[in-house]
Amino acid sequence: MFFKHYRCTGCGKEYSRDEVRYLCPDCSKNYKAGMPLTGVLEAIFDYDAIAEQWKKNPDIELFSAVEQEYYPELPVGNTPLFRSARLAEAIGLMDLLIKNDGLNPSGSLKDRASHLMVAEAIRLKEKKVVTASTGNAACALAALCASAGLEAVIFAPKSAPPAKLIQIKVHGAKLITVDGTYDDAFAASLDYTSKEGGLNRNTAYHPLTIEGKKTVGLEIFLQNNQNVPDWIVVPVGDGVILSGVHKAFVDLQRAGIITRLPKLLSVQAESSDAVTRYFETGTYSDAVKPNTFADSISVKTPSNAHWAVQALKESNGTSVTVTDEEISKAQLLLARTTGVFAEPAASAGLAGLIKATGKHILCRLDQVVLLVTGHGLKDTGAVKI
Ligand SMILES: [Zn+2]
Repeated sequence: MFFKHYRCTGCGKEYSRDEVRYLCPDCSKNYKAGMPLTGVLEAIFDYDAIAEQWKKNPDIELFSAVEQEYYPELPVGNTPLFRSARLAEAIGLMDLLIKNDGLNPSGSLKDRASHLMVAEAIRLKEKKVVTASTGNAACALAALCASAGLEAVIFAPKSAPPAKLIQIKVHGAKLITVDGTYDDAFAASLDYTSKEGGLNRNTAYHPLTIEGKKTVGLEIFLQNNQNVPDWIVVPVGDGVILSGVHKAFVDLQRAGIITRLPKLLSVQAESSDAVTRYFETGTYSDAVKPNTFADSISVKTPSNAHWAVQALKESNGTSVTVTDEEISKAQLLLARTTGVFAEPAASAGLAGLIKATGKHILCRLDQVVLLVTGHGLKDTGAVKI
């Protein structure tokens, strides 16, 4: 394994993996639930050694921060990347690829983070993994814990779509519904872990959630014949998938495998726009009243806002917002031109891509990867036909 240590994205201090579990102790001193995380850690690898191995056998496992011997049995990832000429033509692009991560075992990209977190729990001999979630991360953790024989403790808002709450229960997880938002569930789960123990899988709070999500970016690169696309379109709630995709290409760049980063297009719902405003103004403030029907990106305080904005700047990307009506239209367009049924949050990416193309943020000739983050069957009640 080529994982070396964690490094704080705030102060740069380095920690061994068994020295610090969550945030940089120095930079998170003043952290309280309800604000974007400070002192988020990033995994650092032996990039020279990876570069040598990559020449012989390009394999995303070279960039893994947990040994494969600890992986749970349920395989995740390796979802298809395919070209859609029909959708490309419909929205005025020449080269559009769909990465369909709704085809993960529990139906969302979140399986990637839960897979690595459960592996870490096994390594640490923890019997319990705890998370707050709008729904998908909880379904993912419930499924991965079931496959490893661990207990999953889930804090989710009561308002999560019924199919997601059923998914959590069907895998035997302990579900604690919170009469409030995702942000309230986040705070409740931290409180629980500090009192009851277990490994907390809250997104970005544990650095391996970003490492798990990173695998989607590495797969896109390999499946695209080791070419860097011009743009990757990512629906953004708490900013961790965006950070994960960014980290994939940063790791490839650090290993000298690529020389440029793909531009990232962040897409947020209009009422859940904290990352977009932070990117545009340079000043952070919460989303005022997140009330989008795209539940998976409905977030007042994006936990990884600082890293997400940094990723957008470093990649020369940008962020746009879309209305619920635009998301609904995009959901049907995607379903009817590609055969992919995406949940509302996952359809937001296409709505944002259409907006960005209309504003000439993207060029017609650019190669674009549209990341579909969750399956439409998770929330059929949201479909407007
Ligand atoms: Zn620090």
